[in-house]
Amino acid sequence: MKIGTVKEIKTRECRVGLTPQCVKAYTTRGHQLFVQTGSGLGTGFTDEQYTAAGATILPTAKEVFDACDMIVKVKEPLPEEYDLFHPGQILYTYLHLAASKELTDALLERKIKAVAYETIETADGSLPCLKPMSEIAGRLSIQEGAKYLEKTYGGRGILLGGVPGVARGKVAILGGGIAGTNACKMAVGLGADVTVLDINPDRMVYLDDIFSTHITTLYSNDHNIEHVLKESDLVIGAVLIPGAKAPKLIKKQHLKMMKPGSVFVDIAVDQGGSAETTRPTTHDEPIYVIDDVVHYCVANMPGAVALSSTIALTSVTLPYGLKIAEQGLESACRQSQPLAKGVNVYLGKCVYEPVAQDHGLKY
Ligand code: NAD
Repeated sequence: MKIGTVKEIKTRECRVGLTPQCVKAYTTRGHQLFVQTGSGLGTGFTDEQYTAAGATILPTAKEVFDACDMIVKVKEPLPEEYDLFHPGQILYTYLHLAASKELTDALLERKIKAVAYETIETADGSLPCLKPMSEIAGRLSIQEGAKYLEKTYGGRGILLGGVPGVARGKVAILGGGIAGTNACKMAVGLGADVTVLDINPDRMVYLDDIFSTHITTLYSNDHNIEHVLKESDLVIGAVLIPGAKAPKLIKKQHLKMMKPGSVFVDIAVDQGGSAETTRPTTHDEPIYVIDDVVHYCVANMPGAVALSSTIALTSVTLPYGLKIAEQGLESACRQSQPLAKGVNVYLGKCVYEPVAQDHGLKY
C-alpha cells in the first residue's frame, strides 16, 4: 500500500502521524511511504531520518495526498485540507465527528473511508488509541489549571498544594475515566483536595481503591455537581460518552455560583465540551473568561508536549495501521472488531451510529 503523512496545520500542533520508526515498520513489510517535508520537525524528527527509514520526502501535502492510498494524521482535517482527498482514500486519524457536522459532511461528500482513532474500541469497552492522549491531557490539565490559578493569568491566586497553615486548593474532576484518573494523580501529587464525580459505580470503587482516603468520590448528579462547583478552585471536565457529544454538566447559570477567578479546564472540548459555555481554543489563545471563571478549552492539549505525545500515540496506532496496510481496510475490519468500530465514514455513508444520531444522518 502507498501510505503517507503530512504536516499538521492546526494551530501549534507539533505532533506527527508517523515517526521514522513507524515508517521503517511499514517499509520493511514492502509498503511505500511518503512524508511531506518538515512533518516531523515539531517533534524533532528530520527529513533525513524519514529518508533513512525508507520514506520518499515530498514538498507539499497535495503531492502526498495524490500519491497515497492511506493518509495517517494526528488531528482531524481542516477546511483547507478537505479538497486534497480522493474518493476511496483511507484517512486514519483523530476525527471527533460528533463535534462537527461540517467535517462529517465534508468527509461524506468526498466519499473517503475515514477511520477515527478515538472510536477504535476493544471488547471490554476500552479505547486503545484514545487512551494515551487522555492520559497526557489528564496530566496536563492540572499543570495548566495550576498555572491559570495564578494571579498573573486572571486566576484566584491559589497554590493547589497550600502551605503549612494555609488550606489546600480544591479540585473537582467531572468524569473519572482515563483523563480524569490521570488528572487525579497529578492533583493528589500536588497536594490538592480532590473530588472525582462519575456515573459509573465501578469506576468510583476503582478510584477509591487506588487513591484511598486521598480523594473523595461522588455520584455525578445535579446536586453534587452544584455542590462541588461552589467549593472548587479548579474544575476539570473529563467526561465521555464514546463517539457521542459530551453531556453539558455545567450550565451557564452555574458559573455565577463558582468562586471568582476559579479555573475550568474542559478536556472534553473535543467532544463538544462538558459545559454550555465551552468553546474550542488553541495553544495560541488557550483561555477566555466568562462570569469571572477562566475557561481553558484547548482541543489538542497533547500537542503542547509533542514529543511525548507522538511517541505515545504512534505506539498504539501503528499496529492497527499495519493491519489496514497488510490486509486492506475491509478485510482488516472483518478480522478485527476493534478496528471495525473505528470506521466512521465509508464511501459516502456515516457508519458509526452515535455520530449519525448526533447529526440526524441515515445510519
Ligand atoms: P473515558 O471513557 O476513559 O472516561 C470518561 C468517564 O466519563 C467515564 O468514567 C464515564 O463513566 C464518565 N461519565 C460519562 N458521563 C458522565 C456524567 N454525566 N458525569 C460524570 N461522569 C460521566 O474517557 P477519557 O479517555 O478519559 O476521555 C475523556 C475526554 O477527554 C473525552 O472527551 C476525550 O475525547 C477527551 N480528550 C481530550 C483531549 C484534548 O486534548 N482536549 C485529549 C484526549 C482526550
